[in-house]
Amino acid sequence: MSLKQRLSGKALELGFTDIGFTTTEPLDLYIQEIDSRPQMYDWLMTEQFNVKRGAFPREKHPWARSLLVLIRNYHRRSFPPSLKGKIGRCYQVDERKEKGEEHRRIKDYLDFLIQEGIRVYFDGETPARMSAARAGVVTYGKNCFVYARKSMLGASWLESIPLLLDAEIEPDEPSVELGCPSWCKNACIAACPTGALYSPKKMNPRRCIAYQSYYSSGITPLELREPMGTWVYGCDRCQEVCPAYNTGKLLSPAALETLAIIAYKQPITRLEIDQLRGLNSDGAVKTLLDKRLIKIIGKKESPGRPFLYGSTKEFLQYFGLKNLSDLPPINDFLREDAA
Ligand code: SF4
Ligand code: SF4
Repeated sequence: MSLKQRLSGKALELGFTDIGFTTTEPLDLYIQEIDSRPQMYDWLMTEQFNVKRGAFPREKHPWARSLLVLIRNYHRRSFPPSLKGKIGRCYQVDERKEKGEEHRRIKDYLDFLIQEGIRVYFDGETPARMSAARAGVVTYGKNCFVYARKSMLGASWLESIPLLLDAEIEPDEPSVELGCPSWCKNACIAACPTGALYSPKKMNPRRCIAYQSYYSSGITPLELREPMGTWVYGCDRCQEVCPAYNTGKLLSPAALETLAIIAYKQPITRLEIDQLRGLNSDGAVKTLLDKRLIKIIGKKESPGRPFLYGSTKEFLQYFGLKNLSDLPPINDFLREDAA
Protein backbone atom coordinates (compact mmCIF):
# COMPACT_ATOMS: atom_id res chain seq x y z
CA MET A 1 0.00 0.00 0.00
CA SER A 2 1.42 3.43 -0.94
CA LEU A 3 1.99 6.17 1.64
CA LYS A 4 -0.86 8.17 0.11
CA GLN A 5 -3.24 5.22 0.49
CA ARG A 6 -2.16 4.69 4.09
CA LEU A 7 -2.68 8.36 4.98
CA SER A 8 -6.08 8.41 3.27
CA GLY A 9 -7.22 5.13 4.80
CA LYS A 10 -6.31 6.20 8.32
CA ALA A 11 -8.12 9.54 7.96
CA LEU A 12 -11.33 7.81 6.88
CA GLU A 13 -10.94 5.17 9.57
CA LEU A 14 -10.74 7.91 12.21
CA GLY A 15 -13.98 9.41 10.94
CA PHE A 16 -12.82 12.30 8.74
CA THR A 17 -15.20 12.76 5.86
CA ASP A 18 -12.60 13.11 3.14
CA ILE A 19 -8.93 13.79 2.50
CA GLY A 20 -6.99 15.28 -0.40
CA PHE A 21 -3.48 16.36 -1.28
CA THR A 22 -1.98 19.33 -3.06
CA THR A 23 1.42 20.91 -3.53
CA THR A 24 2.95 23.70 -1.47
CA GLU A 25 3.04 26.05 -4.46
CA PRO A 26 1.50 29.51 -3.83
CA LEU A 27 -2.31 29.50 -3.63
CA ASP A 28 -2.58 31.89 -6.58
CA LEU A 29 -6.37 32.29 -6.77
CA TYR A 30 -6.54 33.18 -3.11
CA ILE A 31 -3.73 35.72 -3.46
CA GLN A 32 -5.48 37.31 -6.48
CA GLU A 33 -8.72 37.54 -4.53
CA ILE A 34 -7.34 39.33 -1.50
CA ASP A 35 -5.09 41.52 -3.64
CA SER A 36 -8.15 42.68 -5.59
CA ARG A 37 -9.92 43.85 -2.38
CA PRO A 38 -7.18 44.60 0.17
CA GLN A 39 -9.31 47.11 2.10
CA MET A 40 -11.73 44.29 3.05
CA TYR A 41 -9.01 41.96 4.25
CA ASP A 42 -6.49 44.23 5.99
CA TRP A 43 -7.52 42.75 9.36
CA LEU A 44 -6.31 39.35 8.11
CA MET A 45 -2.96 40.74 7.00
CA THR A 46 -1.29 42.03 10.12
CA GLU A 47 2.19 41.47 11.51
CA GLN A 48 0.90 38.81 13.96
CA PHE A 49 -1.49 37.00 11.60
CA ASN A 50 -1.25 37.17 7.86
CA VAL A 51 -3.20 34.94 5.49
CA LYS A 52 -1.25 36.23 2.54
CA ARG A 53 1.93 34.95 4.14
CA GLY A 54 0.15 31.61 4.62
CA ALA A 55 -0.78 31.52 0.92
CA PHE A 56 2.90 30.89 0.13
CA PRO A 57 3.32 27.60 2.03
CA ARG A 58 6.66 26.56 0.58
CA GLU A 59 8.21 30.01 0.98
CA LYS A 60 7.08 30.10 4.59
CA HIS A 61 8.01 26.46 5.35
CA PRO A 62 10.84 25.51 2.97
CA TRP A 63 10.91 21.96 4.38
CA ALA A 64 7.24 21.33 3.41
CA ARG A 65 6.61 19.20 0.29
CA SER A 66 2.83 18.61 0.41
CA LEU A 67 -0.37 19.99 1.80
CA LEU A 68 -2.76 17.39 3.14
CA VAL A 69 -6.33 18.57 3.68
CA LEU A 70 -8.75 16.81 6.02
CA ILE A 71 -12.48 17.41 5.78
CA ARG A 72 -14.80 17.08 8.71
CA ASN A 73 -18.54 17.50 8.85
CA TYR A 74 -19.86 19.67 11.63
CA HIS A 75 -23.51 19.23 10.68
CA ARG A 76 -23.71 15.69 12.01
CA ARG A 77 -23.37 16.80 15.62
CA SER A 78 -26.63 17.30 17.41
CA PHE A 79 -27.65 20.94 17.47
CA PRO A 80 -30.28 22.17 19.92
CA PRO A 81 -33.25 23.40 17.85
CA SER A 82 -33.59 26.30 20.30
CA LEU A 83 -30.26 27.70 19.04
CA LYS A 84 -31.32 27.65 15.39
CA GLY A 85 -31.34 31.18 14.03
CA LYS A 86 -29.20 32.40 16.92
CA ILE A 87 -25.82 30.67 16.89
CA GLY A 88 -23.96 29.45 13.81
CA ARG A 89 -23.70 25.68 13.62
CA CYS A 90 -19.93 25.56 13.26
CA TYR A 91 -19.48 27.32 16.58
CA GLN A 92 -20.76 24.19 18.30
CA VAL A 93 -17.19 22.95 17.95
CA ASP A 94 -14.89 25.41 19.68
CA GLU A 95 -11.59 23.75 20.34
CA ARG A 96 -10.22 26.69 22.25
CA LYS A 97 -12.30 25.30 25.10
CA GLU A 98 -13.43 21.88 24.05
CA LYS A 99 -11.16 18.85 24.24
CA GLY A 100 -13.73 16.34 23.05
CA GLU A 101 -14.20 13.94 20.18
CA GLU A 102 -13.01 16.30 17.41
CA HIS A 103 -9.87 17.19 19.35
CA ARG A 104 -9.09 13.49 19.88
CA ARG A 105 -9.65 12.73 16.19
CA ILE A 106 -7.08 15.31 15.11
CA LYS A 107 -4.63 14.29 17.81
CA ASP A 108 -4.89 10.62 16.80
CA TYR A 109 -4.24 11.55 13.18
CA LEU A 110 -1.22 13.71 14.02
CA ASP A 111 0.18 10.88 16.18
CA PHE A 112 -0.32 8.51 13.26
CA LEU A 113 1.60 10.83 10.88
CA ILE A 114 4.46 11.08 13.35
CA GLN A 115 4.54 7.28 13.67
CA GLU A 116 4.82 7.14 9.88
CA GLY A 117 7.99 9.24 10.22
CA ILE A 118 6.37 12.35 8.70
CA ARG A 119 7.05 15.87 9.85
CA VAL A 120 3.72 17.64 10.14
CA TYR A 121 2.66 21.16 11.03
CA PHE A 122 -0.66 22.97 11.23
CA ASP A 123 -0.25 26.61 10.25
CA GLY A 124 -3.36 28.66 11.02
CA GLU A 125 -2.34 31.16 8.33
CA THR A 126 -2.72 28.60 5.50
CA PRO A 127 -5.97 29.43 3.63
CA ALA A 128 -8.02 26.34 4.49
CA ARG A 129 -10.83 26.47 1.92
CA MET A 130 -8.59 27.24 -1.03
CA SER A 131 -6.19 24.48 0.03
CA ALA A 132 -9.13 22.05 0.10
CA ALA A 133 -10.29 23.14 -3.37
CA ARG A 134 -6.82 22.72 -4.80
CA ALA A 135 -6.61 19.31 -3.12
CA GLY A 136 -9.78 18.35 -5.02
CA VAL A 137 -12.04 17.68 -2.05
CA VAL A 138 -14.39 20.67 -2.32
CA THR A 139 -15.86 23.14 -4.78
CA TYR A 140 -16.85 26.71 -4.03
CA GLY A 141 -20.38 28.01 -3.77
CA LYS A 142 -21.32 31.60 -4.64
CA ASN A 143 -21.84 32.06 -0.89
CA CYS A 144 -18.04 31.67 -0.45
CA PHE A 145 -18.55 28.45 1.48
CA VAL A 146 -17.17 25.20 0.16
CA TYR A 147 -19.11 22.07 -0.70
CA ALA A 148 -17.87 18.51 -0.49
CA ARG A 149 -16.95 17.19 -3.89
CA LYS A 150 -17.00 13.44 -3.31
CA SER A 151 -18.40 12.98 0.19
CA MET A 152 -21.33 14.16 2.33
CA LEU A 153 -23.55 14.03 -0.79
CA GLY A 154 -22.02 17.30 -1.90
CA ALA A 155 -23.19 19.16 1.19
CA SER A 156 -21.78 22.24 2.81
CA TRP A 157 -21.36 22.42 6.62
CA LEU A 158 -17.82 21.22 6.57
CA GLU A 159 -14.48 22.33 7.88
CA SER A 160 -11.18 22.04 6.02
CA ILE A 161 -7.99 21.37 7.98
CA PRO A 162 -4.76 21.87 6.00
CA LEU A 163 -1.59 20.17 7.29
CA LEU A 164 1.92 20.73 5.96
CA LEU A 165 3.96 17.56 5.44
CA ASP A 166 7.61 17.00 4.59
CA ALA A 167 6.63 13.96 2.48
CA GLU A 168 6.27 14.38 -1.27
CA ILE A 169 2.83 13.01 -2.14
CA GLU A 170 1.21 13.00 -5.55
CA PRO A 171 -1.31 15.87 -5.65
CA ASP A 172 -4.98 15.27 -6.44
CA GLU A 173 -6.85 16.92 -9.32
CA PRO A 174 -7.84 20.46 -8.18
CA SER A 175 -11.51 21.46 -8.04
CA VAL A 176 -11.25 25.22 -7.65
CA GLU A 177 -14.19 25.89 -9.99
CA LEU A 178 -17.62 27.11 -8.91
CA GLY A 179 -19.84 24.17 -7.96
CA CYS A 180 -23.25 25.91 -8.09
CA PRO A 181 -25.85 24.53 -10.49
CA SER A 182 -26.92 26.96 -13.20
CA TRP A 183 -30.57 26.80 -12.11
CA CYS A 184 -29.93 28.43 -8.72
CA LYS A 185 -30.38 32.16 -9.09
CA ASN A 186 -28.17 33.32 -6.24
CA ALA A 187 -30.47 32.38 -3.37
CA CYS A 188 -27.63 32.88 -0.89
CA ILE A 189 -26.97 36.45 -1.99
CA ALA A 190 -30.66 37.28 -1.75
CA ALA A 191 -30.84 35.77 1.74
CA CYS A 192 -27.85 37.52 3.27
CA PRO A 193 -29.46 39.87 5.80
CA THR A 194 -26.62 42.37 6.01
CA GLY A 195 -25.60 42.65 2.35
CA ALA A 196 -22.21 41.10 3.16
CA LEU A 197 -22.60 38.81 0.13
CA TYR A 198 -22.78 41.38 -2.65
CA SER A 199 -21.99 39.33 -5.74
CA PRO A 200 -21.18 35.68 -6.59
CA LYS A 201 -18.16 34.60 -4.52
CA LYS A 202 -17.71 38.15 -3.24
CA MET A 203 -18.26 38.83 0.42
CA ASN A 204 -17.42 41.88 2.48
CA PRO A 205 -16.30 40.34 5.78
CA ARG A 206 -16.96 43.49 7.78
CA ARG A 207 -20.66 43.24 7.01
CA CYS A 208 -20.81 39.51 7.76
CA ILE A 209 -22.37 38.49 11.08
CA ALA A 210 -19.77 35.75 11.51
CA TYR A 211 -17.02 38.37 11.33
CA GLN A 212 -18.84 40.72 13.64
CA SER A 213 -19.37 38.11 16.34
CA TYR A 214 -16.23 36.02 16.00
CA TYR A 215 -13.42 38.26 14.79
CA SER A 216 -14.31 41.84 15.53
CA SER A 217 -13.35 43.26 18.88
CA GLY A 218 -15.31 46.46 18.42
CA ILE A 219 -18.97 47.32 18.87
CA THR A 220 -21.33 46.02 16.19
CA PRO A 221 -22.03 48.85 13.74
CA LEU A 222 -25.46 50.34 14.33
CA GLU A 223 -26.65 49.76 10.76
CA LEU A 224 -26.03 45.99 11.09
CA ARG A 225 -27.87 45.44 14.36
CA GLU A 226 -31.36 45.26 12.94
CA PRO A 227 -30.48 43.06 9.91
CA MET A 228 -28.65 40.66 12.24
CA GLY A 229 -31.98 39.88 13.87
CA THR A 230 -31.62 37.05 16.37
CA TRP A 231 -28.21 35.89 15.18
CA VAL A 232 -25.96 36.61 18.11
CA TYR A 233 -22.92 34.49 17.22
CA GLY A 234 -22.19 33.54 13.64
CA CYS A 235 -24.86 33.05 11.00
CA ASP A 236 -25.99 30.14 8.81
CA ARG A 237 -28.39 31.95 6.46
CA CYS A 238 -26.39 31.66 3.25
CA GLN A 239 -25.91 27.93 3.80
CA GLU A 240 -29.41 27.20 5.09
CA VAL A 241 -31.07 28.58 1.97
CA CYS A 242 -28.82 26.80 -0.49
CA PRO A 243 -31.16 24.52 -2.43
CA ALA A 244 -28.51 22.50 -4.17
CA TYR A 245 -26.67 21.00 -1.31
CA ASN A 246 -28.47 21.75 1.90
CA THR A 247 -27.96 18.65 4.00
CA GLY A 248 -31.37 18.74 5.60
CA LYS A 249 -33.11 18.84 2.24
CA LEU A 250 -31.04 16.25 0.43
CA LEU A 251 -33.26 13.38 1.43
CA SER A 252 -37.01 13.38 1.58
CA PRO A 253 -38.62 11.98 4.74
CA ALA A 254 -39.51 8.84 2.72
CA ALA A 255 -35.90 8.36 1.60
CA LEU A 256 -34.59 8.96 5.11
CA GLU A 257 -37.03 6.50 6.61
CA THR A 258 -36.08 3.90 4.00
CA LEU A 259 -32.38 4.55 4.61
CA ALA A 260 -32.81 4.08 8.35
CA ILE A 261 -34.65 0.78 7.81
CA ILE A 262 -31.94 -0.50 5.47
CA ALA A 263 -29.13 0.64 7.78
CA TYR A 264 -30.64 -1.08 10.79
CA LYS A 265 -32.20 -4.15 9.16
CA GLN A 266 -29.76 -5.03 6.37
CA PRO A 267 -29.64 -7.22 4.40
CA ILE A 268 -33.25 -6.55 3.48
CA THR A 269 -35.44 -6.87 0.39
CA ARG A 270 -37.59 -4.09 -1.05
CA LEU A 271 -40.75 -6.00 -0.14
CA GLU A 272 -39.62 -6.25 3.48
CA ILE A 273 -38.93 -2.50 3.50
CA ASP A 274 -42.43 -1.89 2.09
CA GLN A 275 -43.93 -4.07 4.81
CA LEU A 276 -42.09 -2.20 7.57
CA ARG A 277 -43.05 1.19 6.16
CA GLY A 278 -46.54 0.21 5.08
CA LEU A 279 -45.81 2.01 1.82
CA ASN A 280 -44.26 1.37 -1.57
CA SER A 281 -40.53 2.23 -1.40
CA ASP A 282 -39.56 1.97 -5.09
CA GLY A 283 -38.80 5.67 -5.49
CA ALA A 284 -36.95 5.98 -2.20
CA VAL A 285 -34.79 2.93 -2.94
CA LYS A 286 -33.93 4.32 -6.38
CA THR A 287 -32.96 7.70 -4.89
CA LEU A 288 -30.74 6.04 -2.30
CA LEU A 289 -29.09 3.86 -4.96
CA ASP A 290 -28.48 6.97 -7.11
CA LYS A 291 -26.89 8.75 -4.18
CA ARG A 292 -24.77 5.66 -3.44
CA LEU A 293 -26.02 5.49 0.14
CA ILE A 294 -27.22 1.91 -0.41
CA LYS A 295 -26.28 -0.90 -2.77
CA ILE A 296 -27.43 -4.35 -3.82
CA ILE A 297 -25.48 -6.83 -1.71
CA GLY A 298 -26.95 -10.10 -2.93
CA LYS A 299 -30.12 -12.03 -3.63
CA LYS A 300 -32.38 -13.67 -1.07
CA GLU A 301 -32.75 -17.44 -1.22
CA SER A 302 -36.53 -17.26 -1.56
CA PRO A 303 -39.02 -17.46 -4.46
CA GLY A 304 -38.13 -14.95 -7.16
CA ARG A 305 -34.67 -14.39 -5.52
CA PRO A 306 -35.30 -10.69 -4.78
CA PHE A 307 -32.38 -8.27 -4.35
CA LEU A 308 -31.02 -7.67 -0.86
CA TYR A 309 -30.04 -4.09 -0.01
CA GLY A 310 -27.39 -2.84 2.40
CA SER A 311 -25.63 0.42 3.24
CA THR A 312 -22.41 1.62 1.60
CA LYS A 313 -19.05 3.09 2.54
CA GLU A 314 -20.47 6.49 1.50
CA PHE A 315 -23.30 6.04 3.99
CA LEU A 316 -20.76 5.52 6.80
CA GLN A 317 -18.68 8.50 5.65
CA TYR A 318 -21.70 10.76 5.33
CA PHE A 319 -22.87 10.04 8.85
CA GLY A 320 -19.34 9.98 10.26
CA LEU A 321 -19.46 6.35 11.35
CA LYS A 322 -16.52 3.99 11.45
CA ASN A 323 -18.74 0.94 11.09
CA LEU A 324 -22.35 -0.09 11.51
CA SER A 325 -21.92 -0.84 15.19
CA ASP A 326 -21.47 2.93 15.70
CA LEU A 327 -25.07 3.54 14.59
CA PRO A 328 -26.95 5.35 17.32
CA PRO A 329 -30.22 3.95 18.69
CA ILE A 330 -32.77 4.48 15.94
CA ASN A 331 -34.75 7.06 17.93
CA ASP A 332 -31.67 9.28 18.35
CA PHE A 333 -30.96 9.04 14.64
CA LEU A 334 -34.42 10.24 13.70
CA ARG A 335 -34.41 13.02 16.33
CA GLU A 336 -31.04 14.32 15.06
CA ASP A 337 -32.38 14.62 11.55
CA ALA A 338 -35.48 16.38 12.74
CA ALA A 339 -33.31 18.95 14.52
S1 SF4 B 1 -22.88 34.20 7.13
FE1 SF4 B 1 -24.77 35.46 7.20
S2 SF4 B 1 -24.09 37.58 7.18
FE2 SF4 B 1 -22.35 36.33 6.55
S3 SF4 B 1 -22.44 36.30 4.33
FE3 SF4 B 1 -23.61 34.49 5.04
S4 SF4 B 1 -25.75 35.20 5.21
FE4 SF4 B 1 -24.44 37.01 5.06
S1 SF4 C 1 -27.69 29.29 -2.86
FE1 SF4 C 1 -27.44 28.86 -5.05
S2 SF4 C 1 -25.89 30.33 -5.75
FE2 SF4 C 1 -25.76 30.23 -3.51
S3 SF4 C 1 -24.21 28.69 -3.06
FE3 SF4 C 1 -26.19 27.64 -3.05
S4 SF4 C 1 -26.41 26.89 -5.17
FE4 SF4 C 1 -24.82 28.44 -5.20
